[in-house]
Amino acid sequence: MEHASVHEVFSSIQGEGPWIGQRHIFVRFAGCDIRCRYCDTQIAQKECEDAGLQFCSVQLMPGSNKRELAPTPVLSPALTKYCKRLIIPGPSHPVISLTGGEPLLQAPFLVDWLPTVHGTFSIYLETSGIHPDAMKSMQDLVDVVSVDFKLPSATGLRPFWTEHEKFLQATRGKTLFVKVVVTADTVKDDIRSSARIIAGFDPSTTLVIQPAGGSLAPESTMLVDFQDEALGIIEDVRVIPQAHKTLNVP
Ligand code: SF4
Repeated sequence: MEHASVHEVFSSIQGEGPWIGQRHIFVRFAGCDIRCRYCDTQIAQKECEDAGLQFCSVQLMPGSNKRELAPTPVLSPALTKYCKRLIIPGPSHPVISLTGGEPLLQAPFLVDWLPTVHGTFSIYLETSGIHPDAMKSMQDLVDVVSVDFKLPSATGLRPFWTEHEKFLQATRGKTLFVKVVVTADTVKDDIRSSARIIAGFDPSTTLVIQPAGGSLAPESTMLVDFQDEALGIIEDVRVIPQAHKTLNVP
């Protein structure tokens, strides 16, 4: 049976993108293969084994501050149990948000686990959009894909345009949106490149411009400027800040 390096499991409010405000059950996988300058989950960048972590933090009930430490790596039945106890009673359809770190680094586990929970939960995948082959392997197993284009002027890393282009092709047919985190260092060229890739895929795909916070935050005039630039190329460009930080929820 496959197992996954999981950092935490909890119920909270989705704080990013067009699905902002929905209640989601977050499964935060550990491990990431890049290092964005603005990363706000640095604790999850390393896989638990590499970081010497033997336990993940699991919320016991939705809305509660109580958590337990559970062994990690996690096997599928245990992860299903952690998610099911965070379902809110009532008619609402529960959503699992796969986040990280980079969830697609755990693709063999996800291909094994997701078919066992997909009937009960909708699956929302948050990814850096640089692993198209992993995405192809779970095309039928996720419902919504949040594809994070990595802008070199914001991440401090090399461009990933080719990977992003291939990734969008691998998601074809899914409900998706593209997100770019922008900082004070972000340049318009990167916004233009992102919008052109989206235009080549499907110009009606939503692009979310998400300002970084704290010392990296861009000027508000930059946000308007970036939105204007992208709207000259694609149809739907929204500036949406991270709400969970304002709401002070995890
Ligand atoms: S891809 Fe995500 S988890 Fe990885 S370093 Fe960048 S922001 Fe952090």
